[in-house]
Amino acid sequence: MQTKVVKFGGSSLADAHQFVKVANIIKSDPSRRYVVPSAPGKRFPKDTKVTDMLYACYDVAARGGEFSDMFEAIVERYVQIVKELGLKIEDRILREFSTIRMSFLARAGRDYAASRGEYLNGIILAEYLGFSFVDAAEVIFFGEDGKLKLTETCKAVKERLEQVGNAVIPGFYGSMPNDTVKTFSRGGSDITGSIVAAAVNADLYENWTDVSGFFVTDPRIVPDPEPIKTITYRELRELAYMGAGVFHEDAIFPARQAGIPINIKNTNRPEDDGTMITETASDDSSPYVITGIAGKKGFVTVTIEKDMMNAELGFGRRVLEAFENNGVSFEHMPSGIDTMSIIVHKDEFEAKEDKIIKAIQTTTNPDKIDIDRDVALMAVVGRGMRAQRGTAARIFAALAHAKVNVKMIDQGSSELNVIVGVREEDFETSVKAVYDIFVVQKL
Ligand code: ADP
Ligand code: ASP
Ligand code: MG
Repeated sequence: MQTKVVKFGGSSLADAHQFVKVANIIKSDPSRRYVVPSAPGKRFPKDTKVTDMLYACYDVAARGGEFSDMFEAIVERYVQIVKELGLKIEDRILREFSTIRMSFLARAGRDYAASRGEYLNGIILAEYLGFSFVDAAEVIFFGEDGKLKLTETCKAVKERLEQVGNAVIPGFYGSMPNDTVKTFSRGGSDITGSIVAAAVNADLYENWTDVSGFFVTDPRIVPDPEPIKTITYRELRELAYMGAGVFHEDAIFPARQAGIPINIKNTNRPEDDGTMITETASDDSSPYVITGIAGKKGFVTVTIEKDMMNAELGFGRRVLEAFENNGVSFEHMPSGIDTMSIIVHKDEFEAKEDKIIKAIQTTTNPDKIDIDRDVALMAVVGRGMRAQRGTAARIFAALAHAKVNVKMIDQGSSELNVIVGVREEDFETSVKAVYDIFVVQKL
C-alpha cells in the first residue's frame, strides 16, 4: 500500500465543521496515514488565528499583565471544537490548559506558547480520527544553533512512526537540546509535513489548504488567477521565497531530497487536482511562457558610487563585509562599473543602518552612498523562459505600458527568473501588468 503524508493548514482546521471535512478526506483514502495539523486558523476574514492569540496572550503574561480573558478566549476555541465534534476529551483539554497557564506564568517562552496551538489541535484530531498522537517535541530536533537536525529527526520520526499504523504529528515545532520547545518560522507546519514525508519515505506529500493549488500569482492581487498544474521544486522555491505564501519556502528541501512529489490541494474542494510539485516538468506542461509571479514590499537599496571602483581590488568584499559583520544578509547585488547596489530587507537594515553605513565609509571611502527606502521586488519565474527569447523585453514593455518606473533588474543565473525592483506603490500594478501579458493575452 502507498503511504501519503497529509498536512492540513489553519483554515482547514479552523472549527468543527472544517474538522469533519478533514476527517472525510483522510478516511476516504487509507494511504493517508500520517497527518500533520496546523493550529486553528481564521473562521472568517476578520477572525484571529489561534497562533496569533497565543503570541499576544503570552506577551501580556510575560510582562506580568492580566491575561485571563485572552487565555479564556483561546480555551473557548478548543472547547467549542471538542464539543461540536462530540468528543469526550473536554477534561483532558482543560487539564492541558492549566499546564499551559502555569507555563505562561513561569515564562516558558514565546515559541512554547505558539506551539500549543498545533499541539492541542493534534490531540483533538488524533482523538477524532482514532489515530495515535505523536508529540513533535519527541521526534523533531533542533541543534544549539537553532537549525533543524534533519538526519537525526528523520531517524527518530521513522522509528516512532514504524510502531504505529496511523498517527497525527502536530506541525510547526520541535525541541532544542535542553528540551525547550522551538518553532519554525511562521507557516512552518509545511516544513513538519515535508520532514515526516521524507522520514517515512512517503509516495506523496499532500499539503491541504484553502485554495485549489498554487496560482500563477497571489489571488489577493489578481482576482481568480489561473492555477498552476505542475511546477518544479526550484520554481516553487523561487516563488515561495519571494512571497507566494501558500507554501513555506523551506518546506521544499526535505521532500525534494527524498524525491517525494508534493500536491497542494483544497480542503474545501477536494475534487480539484491542485498543483503537483516535482523535480522536473516538461516545458509544454504549462500553457504560458512563465510559471508564476510573486513579490514583496519592504526592501531598501543601498547604492555606493566611486570612480574607478572596478579597478579597486576587494571593494565589493569590503562593502559586503559591512553588512555581514552586522548580521544583515543581502537579497540582490546589481552592479555597474562605478556603482554597486545592495538590496536588503528594510527592517533588518534599519536596525543596523548607522553601523553599516559607517563601516562602508571607513573601509571603502566612497564618493557617494544613496539609500532608497521604497523598493518592492517582483519575481517572474518560469522554466519556459530559458527557451523563449525576449521574455525580459516583454516584461519591461508591459511595465512601461503600465507606467511603472523600473528601478532594478536582475536575471538569475539559472535563467529561471527575472527579478524587477519597483516603487512600493507600483507593486500591485506591476504584478497585474505582467499577469496580463503572459497569462491573459498569452503572449
Ligand atoms: P494554510 O493555513 O493552509 O497553510 P496559508 O494561508 O499559509 O494557508 O496559504 C494559503 C493562502 O496563500 C491562500 O489563501 C492565498 O491567499 C495565499 N497565496 C499567496 N500567493 C498565492 C499563490 N501564488 N497561489 C495560491 N495562494 C496564494
Ligand atoms: N500556526 C503557525 C502559523 O500560524 C504555523 C502554520 O500555520 O503553519 O504560522
Ligand atoms: Mg501556510
